[in-house]
Amino acid sequence: PRYVYRFGGGVSDGGRGDKNLLGGKGANLAEMASIGLPVPPGFTIGTPMCARYYQEGERFPDSLAAEVTQGIAHIEQVTGKRFGDPADPLLVSVRSGARVSMPGMMDTVLNLGLNDETVQGLAATSGDERFAWDSYRRFIQMYADVVLGLDHGAFEEALEVAKEDRGLTLDTELSASDLQELVAEYKQLVRDQWSRDFPQDVHDQLWGAVGAVFGSWQSERAKVYRRLNDIPGDWGTAVNVQAMVFGNMGDTSATGVAFTRDPSTGERAYYGEFLINAQGEDVVAGIRTPQYLTRAAREAAGAKPASMEEAMPELYAELTRVFDTLERHYRDMQDIEFTVERGQLWMLQTRSGKRTAKAALKIAVDMATEGLISEQEAVLRVDPAALDQLLHPTLDPDAPRDVLTKGLPASPGAASGAAVFDADTAEKRAAAGEAVILVRTETSPEDIHGMHAARGILTARGGMTSHAAVVARGMGRPCVSGAGSISIDVKTRVMRVAGREVREGDRLTIDGSTGEVMLGEVATVQPELAGDFGTLMEWADKTRRLRVRTNAETPADCKTAHEFGAEGIGLCRTEHMFFDAARIAAVRQMILASDEPGRRAALDKLLPEQRDDFAEIFLVMAGLPCTIRLLDPPLHEFLPHEEAEFADVAAATGLDVEQLKRRAAELHEFNPMLGHRGCRLGVTYPEIYEMQARAIFEAAIEVATRTGQAPIPEVMIPLVATRRELELMKAVVDRAAEAVFAEKGRRVDYLVGTMIELPRAALRAGEIAEVGEFFSFGTNDLTQTTLGVSRDDAGRFLSAYVEQGIYAKDPFVSLDVEGVGELVSLAAERGRGTRPDLKLGICGEHGGDPASIAFCEQVGLDYVSASPYRVPIARLAAAQSAL
Ligand code: ADP
Ligand code: MG
Ligand code: MG
Repeated sequence: PRYVYRFGGGVSDGGRGDKNLLGGKGANLAEMASIGLPVPPGFTIGTPMCARYYQEGERFPDSLAAEVTQGIAHIEQVTGKRFGDPADPLLVSVRSGARVSMPGMMDTVLNLGLNDETVQGLAATSGDERFAWDSYRRFIQMYADVVLGLDHGAFEEALEVAKEDRGLTLDTELSASDLQELVAEYKQLVRDQWSRDFPQDVHDQLWGAVGAVFGSWQSERAKVYRRLNDIPGDWGTAVNVQAMVFGNMGDTSATGVAFTRDPSTGERAYYGEFLINAQGEDVVAGIRTPQYLTRAAREAAGAKPASMEEAMPELYAELTRVFDTLERHYRDMQDIEFTVERGQLWMLQTRSGKRTAKAALKIAVDMATEGLISEQEAVLRVDPAALDQLLHPTLDPDAPRDVLTKGLPASPGAASGAAVFDADTAEKRAAAGEAVILVRTETSPEDIHGMHAARGILTARGGMTSHAAVVARGMGRPCVSGAGSISIDVKTRVMRVAGREVREGDRLTIDGSTGEVMLGEVATVQPELAGDFGTLMEWADKTRRLRVRTNAETPADCKTAHEFGAEGIGLCRTEHMFFDAARIAAVRQMILASDEPGRRAALDKLLPEQRDDFAEIFLVMAGLPCTIRLLDPPLHEFLPHEEAEFADVAAATGLDVEQLKRRAAELHEFNPMLGHRGCRLGVTYPEIYEMQARAIFEAAIEVATRTGQAPIPEVMIPLVATRRELELMKAVVDRAAEAVFAEKGRRVDYLVGTMIELPRAALRAGEIAEVGEFFSFGTNDLTQTTLGVSRDDAGRFLSAYVEQGIYAKDPFVSLDVEGVGELVSLAAERGRGTRPDLKLGICGEHGGDPASIAFCEQVGLDYVSASPYRVPIARLAAAQSAL
């Protein structure tokens, strides 16, 4: 098989369709070259080599050498330089690049091909001694770090000392001879730490770097990143070897990163940063503060150093033409890396840019409006899960705040939590349930687990395209970066800012939309859901077939869900209404009553309360279907525990406390989840379901009379296993309905159905549908009962199960399509076989999970039901699953 693919100089052996083979970076370099953009020539070693490299014990097959030689020959031919030529050396970069971008997770080596001889040639051909030695010292430093795995702190220190000794502050102030001395020191450091000389043979250098890039695929941080982002370990990375172009050749040279639209807000404005006389990582590493790309951005920030638009107007104009070409070509917002070498622009990378949910929404809607993509494509462009970021509160603009300092608004949203100063502490405290803000001087890829655990991220250094900013935006974490007035003392666990101290654990609030950093917690407000959000949702609604309802029982939740677009209630859990402080006494009286008259006396007190609850819900959901589940949990959940609670019940019932305690003990269950609960309550105490049904119908008629809009109650019987159970319970409900209709002289339409949450019910769905008029898949319990795993106890072992690939994802979060899913589709089929118009829905947590929703679409359910905040996510996911 072939492993090497060329690009540049009029050749492209691949293109953007080849990401699996060439990695994203390689595929897009080839693509850019093929559409005539200026790309330094190079070649890509495909991803299959990565697997092969590991299979063969971290060695390369012999055949690769010949292919790489041809690849180098291609670069030599295009550039007219020769690799290792002391007179006019070709230098290359060796760059990682997986199928999907893993920002900063893997390694890259620049300026490869320099040695004690070629550095002289580079100085001579460039006419710039300083540049040549600067490149050499960068190369040794990077190679020592990435390939040789030496302690990079020592190299940084040597650089700092070199500047200090000479009374300088900037790297760029070091002269050619300063840098030459530094190179000698660096070589000595290599000798000390590695007990060998820095490799002078350029081919040794090349193979070392290629091996290191493949090796970085298995680095700890890359593994963590893959785990967090569901990236399979066997994909591997490609390696790109590419002719160097130099942004560090003086003041007509520069390097930068840019987005074709604002990745934070989605605004149609070029966005980016650059540095004059700099190379590669300088911009993202936060070593020098980068300059703005556009004049508007510079002015908005009140910054002094000229923007690229001002400093290099012609190149800026050329660059923006490239932006437009790339956007039109890729039909998406692009994240671009470029370098200017002595007035000549070179493109080094393009990819679809990571963006916040807000930006994703705006860009999708704008691009559809601009005619670049269709409405349906726009619907597909936004990750439903990311909408979560938009639906949550932002800082109340009127709330008092104690602003400590201001940094860059690197990733929007507000977050509060305890300040912590390292990633491990962040992870630990977050695992203990605490909200934390990770505060770092700057983040590095090693911090990724702490960033993930934190609610928000604050850094003292780094720009809008720094590591912290890029990763935070990708994760949807609010981030303030480059808050320069902060200093962090990791040892004493104190951060100082503007003469004040914040200790570890003190509460901080950050606003990633403004850059403000505040002491303490600041009040928040609900977000606005109009504008682009509304537009995209409208397009989604036009596209989807599945209906979306909500799981809600309080009028407030119902209202929120209704505003989020819920088309009815899929699950109203009536027991939640029983926990109300004012009612619990009556509920306890009912449970502890020793006979039916005792229970009825208590139920009479509850009836008007339940009726009012339902009436409020029906009002909010006027004209929409409302599925109300009759009492489900084991009675013991309501039992009194404290002496005072027993005394209350005793006073209400006239029974004595000892008697009540005895009755409570009788109700004890060994396995309540499989005990006296669900329809078993209705079978043993039908008066409970009778009261609830009566409350539902009285409320429905009341609302119908008051508003002229009849609600559509769907009375749901929980935990049914057999046809007979449902038949008995339906009779109770029907009797109550007829009684109420007769009393009120008016009828409403209603349905009686069941939850399918036991495997037996799924299997016997055909006969259960003879009685039930709808099924709602209660996939929380159905998952528990199918897997035999208790949801409340799964925490102890489920992560080990997921880690070892026993279940791909937590089956309580994302439906186990193979197992539980088979029961769902079988029940749907058997149920519809009996009753073709059987209404089918899902009301477990899964109803708000995009992958599970795709399954529901496939099985042809009528609706999904999700918690209020997940309703928009479900609407979008439903639309995507229909496309
Ligand atoms: P990452 O995946 O971490 O972004 P890259 O391979 O893109 O790593 O390299 C990082 C930076 O190094 C690039 O943004 C670019 O500025 C610089 N770089 C890489 N290759 C070259 C090259 N051939 N010439 C000049 N600069 C390069
Ligand atoms: Mg890059
Ligand atoms: Mg259940």
